[in-house]
Amino acid sequence: MSFDIKIAFDNKCVKEGFKPGFGFSAIIYNHFTDNYLLFDTGDNIQTLSHNIKHFGINLKEIKKIIISHNHYDHNGALSHLWRENNNITLYIPDALEEYEQHFPNACIHSFKEFTEIEKNIHVSGQLGTSIKEQALLLKSNKNEWIMLVGCTHPGLEAFIIEARKVLPIGAIIGGFHDFRKYSYLEGISFIGACHCTMNVGSIKERFPDQYRRVCVGDTFSF
Ligand SMILES: [Zn+2]
Ligand SMILES: [Zn+2]
Repeated sequence: MSFDIKIAFDNKCVKEGFKPGFGFSAIIYNHFTDNYLLFDTGDNIQTLSHNIKHFGINLKEIKKIIISHNHYDHNGALSHLWRENNNITLYIPDALEEYEQHFPNACIHSFKEFTEIEKNIHVSGQLGTSIKEQALLLKSNKNEWIMLVGCTHPGLEAFIIEARKVLPIGAIIGGFHDFRKYSYLEGISFIGACHCTMNVGSIKERFPDQYRRVCVGDTFSF
């Protein structure tokens, strides 16, 4: 086992006992380091903290937060999380000065390039022009990427191309927005299109065995 991914926030699908909300967030447990990381925060702390607690995880156990892009449905709960636990390292895609003003004394990193942030976990670096965005890439013990994405405003294919320069992709989880270049998904065995994905029906139709419904409250282990 390399990683457990727990879906803490999504607007479309929810399991009993958990709460839906606008946005996306996933908790990652890294078995190589025994660390919890959080990818995005959803838009509000009440829903996020309810779901994290419902997984039986203490907010203080989260060591690192990675923000995909600076939209409210992805970083809206960050200030509150920071108040509850300021022993967190932040990995942000853009607007470093604004974050530094907002989170004084915080340990904040902003990488333009593909960078390993702890054993077997990499940020893609910033892609896109008007909206800068990063993905999170987990290197599994099968030597393939488990890729977490926010809204993929620069186009999901841009992240796929970058990731495949290094390793094949085994799974993608997150928002695909209006992505339609479906041939890029060939060879990916776990297609977890959720959050803002508009063309779920077409993805399901084209990849019936690979498409996976992703809901708040789900845990996926790779
Ligand atoms: Zn967005
Ligand atoms: Zn979004």
